[in-house]
Amino acid sequence: MIKIIQGDITTLAVDAIVNAANQMMLGGGGVDGAIHRAAGPELYKACLKVPEVRPGVRCPTGEARITPGFRLPAKFVIHTVGPVYRDGLHGEPEKLAACYRNALALAAENGCKSIAFPCISTGVYGYPIEDAAKIAVREVKNFLTQRRRDAECAEEMEVIFCCFSARDAVVYRQLTL
Ligand code: ADP
Repeated sequence: MIKIIQGDITTLAVDAIVNAANQMMLGGGGVDGAIHRAAGPELYKACLKVPEVRPGVRCPTGEARITPGFRLPAKFVIHTVGPVYRDGLHGEPEKLAACYRNALALAAENGCKSIAFPCISTGVYGYPIEDAAKIAVREVKNFLTQRRRDAECAEEMEVIFCCFSARDAVVYRQLTL
């Protein structure tokens, strides 16, 4: 089931919230900063423990990593790194789609029944909201359809698009009508 809400993702009592992180995974601005502030310093420590795959990179663009949610109402934080938008012709759509797919797969592996996404890459990383939302909705719909076909998991996952602005919520609502 897909839900669209407008609000602050750090307040949601879901199994997992997704963080639009950077490759270092040690906090930053936007939703990343808000999540680290709300989760408390334990989150920073947990992120430090995530092994680097190369110097300064804990999570390459398009991949995802999971930590506990600590002081957040959410059980887990799934950190994913969206692409920096240039012109859409440098692999950005594929990278953004991979963020959604990998975050959803990690949520399923960890038994999550509910997950909330921010509008990944559409802040400082500059991805146009209409294009990013189309990819987000497509990937979530594909995931939910595949999961329904899988006889072993009869239970539906609740996927929330948590939009910070009313305008973003309108874009998502139009796409999911
Ligand atoms: P990126 O670097 O991936 O672009 P940003 O954090 O700059 O990440 O922005 C991603 C989206 O998260 C933007 O739409 C921004 O408005 C939104 N955002 C910022 N703070 C919050 C929050 N507390 N809850 C939900 N969304 C948020």
